[in-house]
Amino acid sequence: MKSVEPKVFLIGETRLVEDGLQSYLNHAGVPGWKSDAPSDSELLIEVMGRLCYRSFEPGLNPNVTRVREGNAPYLANIVQVGHGSVLEHAALNFIFADVSRVVTHELVRHRAGTSISQESLRFVRLDALSAYVPLHIRESETGMEIFARTFEQLETIQRELAQLYDIDDAKDFSEKKKLTSAFRRMAPIGVATTIGWSCNFRALRHVIEMRTDPHAEEEIRLLFGQVYHIAKDRHPNLFADYEEEEVDGLPWVKTVHGKV
Ligand SMILES: Cc1cc2nc3c(=O)[nH]c(=O)nc-3n(C[C@H](O)[C@H](O)[C@H](O)COP(=O)(O)OP(=O)(O)OC[C@H]3O[C@@H](n4cnc5c(N)ncnc54)[C@H](O)[C@@H]3O)c2cc1C
Repeated sequence: MKSVEPKVFLIGETRLVEDGLQSYLNHAGVPGWKSDAPSDSELLIEVMGRLCYRSFEPGLNPNVTRVREGNAPYLANIVQVGHGSVLEHAALNFIFADVSRVVTHELVRHRAGTSISQESLRFVRLDALSAYVPLHIRESETGMEIFARTFEQLETIQRELAQLYDIDDAKDFSEKKKLTSAFRRMAPIGVATTIGWSCNFRALRHVIEMRTDPHAEEEIRLLFGQVYHIAKDRHPNLFADYEEEEVDGLPWVKTVHGKV
């Protein structure tokens, strides 16, 4: 058995079309409007928010006599008043590798604002099994021995089944798929796999809050601690209200403005 840790790859994020934005600003009568947003996503969210009240500059809407200057204060106010819908306009695209089916079962419960592509264990045959070993198991020599022995037995079973049904020589792909799917039923829920996960910023904040909470499971806390750091480094103004406290060696990411 190979011991692994969850890995986070940020592979995509929302990009601004500068010409398109400039054309809109010309149309709206504010051709010179600029933002100090640190990222395209934060700029785009600011624009989507400001267009609601035409709050690009005072007087553009006669009802608006002053506007919040700067991306950071603007987004801080959006979060504070709970206008989370504008955060839905921008998204991040992640691949999580070496995560267990425990984690993926938990992750797919988050439906709103997410998109998912999961490695198919009907198509991808299990051979060598890798797994994240939880702290309580790692701390005990006997626990570790039982964990490793179980995984090794299950690896052996996968190989025995492959041999018994001669899957390597099977010509028909649908037959291979049926066999692979039958074999996976004898795989452990802790088996490491890969999932592609895209998420808009409103949903991302909610999932970070829920899944770094000390009541959440250890592996998903480890995963979302990493997700939070990556997301915050690139988009500091969207997470400026967050505080971190370390619990059991993992970050607990908290805010007074939960679930905007
Ligand atoms: C510590 C912990 C323990 C858990 N234990 C269990 C457990 O024992 N058993 C279990 O089954 N699950 C458990 N869960 C999963 C939990 O119940 C949720 O299903 C999961 O966290 C998804 O969150 P969410 O419901 O906020 O959905 P998300 O999809 O993340 O949605 C975000 C928000 O959008 C709104 N929303 C989304 N969909 C709808 C809808 N259809 N209708 C109305 N509003 C909607 C809600 O306000 C929701 O909070 C646990 C989660 C955690 C963090």
